[in-house]
Amino acid sequence: MSKIESKFLKVKCSDCANESVLFNKVSSSVSCQFCGSSLASSTGGTATITAEIVEELD
Ligand SMILES: [Zn+2]
Repeated sequence: MSKIESKFLKVKCSDCANESVLFNKVSSSVSCQFCGSSLASSTGGTATITAEIVEELD
């Protein structure tokens, strides 16, 4: 059972290409600040990133 690390991800919105930085353990859904498209949804502690991940930050 692998442990998922907490880290920040730089993602790019698939709709408008706006880049955002979000935490991979968001506790609620995250939407693009520019167009409102969904970037991530929370599934019990670990975020499911629906946007394109550009870079992992730590
Ligand atoms: Zn967008």
